[in-house]
Amino acid sequence: MNEELLNNAIVGGESGITLDSNYVPPNLIDLKEAVPNAYYPYYDVEIQQEAIQPIQDFVNDLIQHGYVPYITYGYRSYELQEQLHHDLPNDAASPGASQHQLGITIDIHSYAKIDDNGNITWYDASTDYGYSEPTILAIQLAAKYGIAHPMAWDAPHFFVAAAVCPTIDIYLQSIEDPVYSTYYNELNAVIAQIQQECL
Ligand SMILES: [Zn+2]
Repeated sequence: MNEELLNNAIVGGESGITLDSNYVPPNLIDLKEAVPNAYYPYYDVEIQQEAIQPIQDFVNDLIQHGYVPYITYGYRSYELQEQLHHDLPNDAASPGASQHQLGITIDIHSYAKIDDNGNITWYDASTDYGYSEPTILAIQLAAKYGIAHPMAWDAPHFFVAAAVCPTIDIYLQSIEDPVYSTYYNELNAVIAQIQQECL
């Protein structure tokens, strides 16, 4: 495991650290090339190397269930987070406090369901009525790959905890109602607690 990544993994929330404005994860990779069977925007989506395999396994599982995810964000720089927080103070974490700056977090904006004739139906991650069907499925599938959905109000947001701690899936699979739970602070506490085991 990557010690630098682990030491910075607990970000934001009540007990997390604030990342430096110049913190950039050590090994960012173009997710479009590494996991080509998802949908992406025109701009780059970069992800830390350790998160690639769990994301690939997760994406493959979603596709087997009939949904292709549209991944709109991975790593976000401090400057970009600053801009987002300025524009959307209630929706975007303050600069230095976002899991996106770690490079092990993705946002799935929507999901494409492709029928036998090749027709695509798009599902947003959530609607006015709550999570869409593929979001519920995705959250349920994610835990076994060590991928957390730590904030119930943030439907698109998935944190690849396995990238810093391979045994974290045991904790994630023990959460009673993962779909509608917010466990951001608890997740940070668990990672801190099992830090030795993670390396
Ligand atoms: Zn996010």
